[in-house]
Amino acid sequence: MISKFSGLKLIHHLDHVKATLEHRNMYPVHVNVDPTNYCNHHCIWCSQHELQQEKAMGINYDALVAALAEARDLGLKAVTLIGAGDPTVYKRFLDLTREISRLGLDLGMFTHGGYPSEWRDHILETFTWVRFSLDAATTEVHNLVHDVDNRFDQIVSNLRDLAEKRKGPTAVQNVLQ
Ligand code: SF4
Repeated sequence: MISKFSGLKLIHHLDHVKATLEHRNMYPVHVNVDPTNYCNHHCIWCSQHELQQEKAMGINYDALVAALAEARDLGLKAVTLIGAGDPTVYKRFLDLTREISRLGLDLGMFTHGGYPSEWRDHILETFTWVRFSLDAATTEVHNLVHDVDNRFDQIVSNLRDLAEKRKGPTAVQNVLQ
């Protein structure tokens, strides 16, 4: 059994590999979804900051769920929530993630990690993986670069809580860019 986190998982999708080599179109097995362009942090480097403030939008929930259901019937296996903003501030985040799970799709997410701590069990039940974009080591630095008031401890607590309770592997990486 190949782990979902192994680079060898391509072996699970040999039909798609063959179709690509033969220049045939295939329906995707994985899609990225931006549920909203809004974020409640204001990182000094964020390319979306001005757009978020002026034109904060959320995706049409019913249209998205219908599209994912159709895609699932055509072979979709997994969804990653990413964002020009942060997925966890999408107004129907809990409904959306519950519905994606109900469709039988694997679910992942990139987030700043500042969601309410009482969402822990829901996230454990609905997500296969979560990546925290944590780019500071102290409250002071996090306040400065994210332009927020003292959210660092809450984020670390959420990260620790998920890592302790989850059943699969936990990877912690430092990435310098
Ligand atoms: S957490 Fe991400 S989306 Fe939010 S302001 Fe920072 S870089 Fe932008």
